[in-house]
Amino acid sequence: MVYAPVAHWIWGGGFLAGDGALDFAGGTVVHVNAAAAALVAALVVGPGPAGLAAAAQLNRTGHTVTVFEKADRIGGLLRYGIPEFKLEKRVLDRRLALLEEEGVVFRTGVNVGVDVPTTDVQHHYDAVLLAGGAERPRELPLPGRDATGIVQAMTYLTSQNERCESPERAVDTALSAAGRHVVIIGGGDTGADCVGTAHRQGASSVTQLERLPMPPSTRAADNPWPLWPHVFRTSTAHEEGGVRSYAVDTTAFLTDASGRVRALRTQQLDPSPDGRAGTFVARPGSVNEIPADLLILALGFSGPAASPLLDALGLARSAAGTIVPDEEWRTSVPGVYVAGDMQRGASLIVWAIDDGRRAAAAIDRDLMRQA
Ligand SMILES: Cc1cc2nc3c(=O)[nH]c(=O)nc-3n(C[C@H](O)[C@H](O)[C@H](O)COP(=O)(O)OP(=O)(O)OC[C@H]3O[C@@H](n4cnc5c(N)ncnc54)[C@H](O)[C@@H]3O)c2cc1C
Repeated sequence: MVYAPVAHWIWGGGFLAGDGALDFAGGTVVHVNAAAAALVAALVVGPGPAGLAAAAQLNRTGHTVTVFEKADRIGGLLRYGIPEFKLEKRVLDRRLALLEEEGVVFRTGVNVGVDVPTTDVQHHYDAVLLAGGAERPRELPLPGRDATGIVQAMTYLTSQNERCESPERAVDTALSAAGRHVVIIGGGDTGADCVGTAHRQGASSVTQLERLPMPPSTRAADNPWPLWPHVFRTSTAHEEGGVRSYAVDTTAFLTDASGRVRALRTQQLDPSPDGRAGTFVARPGSVNEIPADLLILALGFSGPAASPLLDALGLARSAAGTIVPDEEWRTSVPGVYVAGDMQRGASLIVWAIDDGRRAAAAIDRDLMRQA
């Protein structure tokens, strides 16, 4: 297993908790009214796990909280990234219903910085928490990249999650794996989510390619406890089928006469003869063509997406493009805070929740000093 079920991570953070002694259906999980009347106004941009955890905590502390989301539904990657087979959206929805009962105001379809000017946001709210995630996907700029049928993993996964939310929505055939030979480039967890989705859509075949060598089955000498064990893992999506190939480098995308991808050209990689860690050379005579009529890029994320909001604020950034907070979650712009993947880079739900809670506590400290 790559991940314990997502719900485990979330329950670990207590955010979507609802098992054991706590019971939604039995009415022991109920909304909590803030003890004090509204103190000051806070705005959360982006209701993924970081933004939602912060909104819940700020609201319970007694602040009025408004949450803006540019998509049509609340949840960030919990909603449109992680597939339904890993995180059932009813788990998210029941918690969102409680947050709304508690008084958190959600506004969807609002791209802050585009639909609402950045200056208005800064003027109307005492604190602004940026929790917009790390949405910029890594690219593979090879010959043939513009062919139809080559898509980013989030485009593919979002399309399927939208259909799960609205089954009446017509299948987007351009993004469907049904009857297609699907190749996923990227051997990580997002790639595994694409494997499981492609199988559910009825793919003819599913192949996942990874550029790095196959991990060992037990810890290598340079990977001792307590470091995270870099060992071969099999997720439930992998247990369902498909082929995984390691040390495979893609060198070109090949198209048919209509401009649609039909295959990718690959070569096998071997460790560099000079023994330098992490460097590889092409194995002579290993060039291969793998048929593909849907090719999904699952290469990870390189930081927050470019946005008018971030441009207008002109925040201090790291070399990787993430937003750099101080130890109190403040950005370089007064009154503007940041939490989650936007400052950490692409990570895990449990970290986003922790960030959101810590940022909420820091915002509360600052607001109460000013009140
Ligand atoms: C496919 C996939 C599967 C994953 N599976 C797991 C898993 O199994 N377990 C795990 O722990 N982690 C998993 N992760 C990672 C996890 O989902 C993220 O680390 C986490 O969601 C980050 O939370 P966040 O709140 O920082 O941002 P996000 O969840 O990315 O939410 C940010 C939200 O902000 C909105 N937004 C951005 N800019 C604006 C703006 N200007 N105006 C309005 N709204 C805006 C976005 O639309 C988005 O909805 C997965 C990630 C992916 C991509």
